[in-house]
Amino acid sequence: MNAALDPTTLAESAHARMVRVAEEVAAQHAADVDAKGRFPAETFEALKRERLLGVWIPKEYGGEGISLTEMCDLVSRLGQACGSSAMIYGMHQIKMSSLIRHSGESPWHQDYMRECASDQLLLGSATTEGGIGGDLRNSICAVEVEGDRYRLTKQATCISYGRSADAILATCRRGPDSASSDQVMVVCKKGDYTLRETVGWDTMGMRGTRSEGFELISAGDARQIFVAPFGEIAAQSMLAMAHIIWCATWFGIAADTVVKSQAFVRAEAKKKPGVVPPGALRLAEVSASLQKMKSLLVAGIARYEAALADEALMNTLSFIAELNTIKVSASELGIEIAQKALMITGLAGYRNEGPFSIARNYRDLLSAAIMINNDRILGNTANLLLMSKVDTSIGG
Ligand SMILES: Cc1cc2nc3c(=O)[nH]c(=O)nc-3n(C[C@H](O)[C@H](O)[C@H](O)COP(=O)(O)OP(=O)(O)OC[C@H]3O[C@@H](n4cnc5c(N)ncnc54)[C@H](O)[C@@H]3O)c2cc1C
Repeated sequence: MNAALDPTTLAESAHARMVRVAEEVAAQHAADVDAKGRFPAETFEALKRERLLGVWIPKEYGGEGISLTEMCDLVSRLGQACGSSAMIYGMHQIKMSSLIRHSGESPWHQDYMRECASDQLLLGSATTEGGIGGDLRNSICAVEVEGDRYRLTKQATCISYGRSADAILATCRRGPDSASSDQVMVVCKKGDYTLRETVGWDTMGMRGTRSEGFELISAGDARQIFVAPFGEIAAQSMLAMAHIIWCATWFGIAADTVVKSQAFVRAEAKKKPGVVPPGALRLAEVSASLQKMKSLLVAGIARYEAALADEALMNTLSFIAELNTIKVSASELGIEIAQKALMITGLAGYRNEGPFSIARNYRDLLSAAIMINNDRILGNTANLLLMSKVDTSIGG
């Protein structure tokens, strides 16, 4: 793909570039991506062309060093056009956050970050594993290191855009004798691995993410293994980033249903001047739910940024519980919003086609509760609450 720098591109803000990609490309192809369950290739060509894949990387490594708020805004903007594209873009940025935060003293990872920025590489993720499911903090597979080389085979039951990624960041045990929770993460670069499909991807929603299952067989330079233990990566960047960036994706998809509801109510009002359309009250209700969802997201971002400034906060039980709760609540609110939007738009919303259709949004939002199952997250939060006080403060 051509990721060559267009000199006019960077004169514009990342937001303006994303609006262009969302409106001119992603929205145009979203229905076809969904119907065919295919990777949104045109959108990712455009994101690369606009140099939006490496935009979060710090400037000293060739990126633009945008803030987490700006990143969430980009994800959400894309989500208003195509949910699958936003989820892929978001998952890529979650992986990028691990490189940004945990490259530390590793020249290999620092160089790779530069490569990601210059070549606009797309990063995928293999945490889910056969026999483990969504239990991120345990692995069955193990990396084997011999001399300066690593070898890894993983039954990865779900790798989104696995065939289209430039690298897959895979979790595994530190070695064949390690405990299941003694994990590391490896950057498996394209060319270093083969993927044998084990499970297809014909789903209700998020069809364009192509989250197929594969046997991942990889070998490469042992320096590609992150120096930081995966437990640290999960606690300090990955889990919080996943919850916040997923939340931004769902917010964008849900926001689009509210925009469509508003357009529907306005069209009804035009048809019968002087009569308040029946959906108007529900529109006020659904916009309040959207505002709640936004408040959760903004609170999560603020909490994470406060924790970046004071790392001790990141390991507190209340921080983890709060981020868990934001994910669970946002995933529930997304569906609540889509349901309310359906009541407003009626049959026009229920149809798969037409300007007021919210069918794709609804189906995409259904994945939110199972993307790391809410019951699993609530179970984890319940354990934390047995050991910590309920946070009743307002100032954090
Ligand atoms: C759109 C999408 C894209 C994805 N992309 C990727 C990707 O790129 N890479 C990747 O690695 N993964 C990916 N995943 C997988 C995701 O991260 C989770 O691992 C997956 O959704 C969990 O699947 P599961 O429900 O089958 O498994 P589990 O989480 O194992 O849950 C199985 C069932 O067991 C129950 N359960 C299990 N454990 C508990 C518990 N402790 N408490 C309560 N109930 C429990 C739940 O009710 C659930 O129904 C993606 C998922 C989706 C939906």
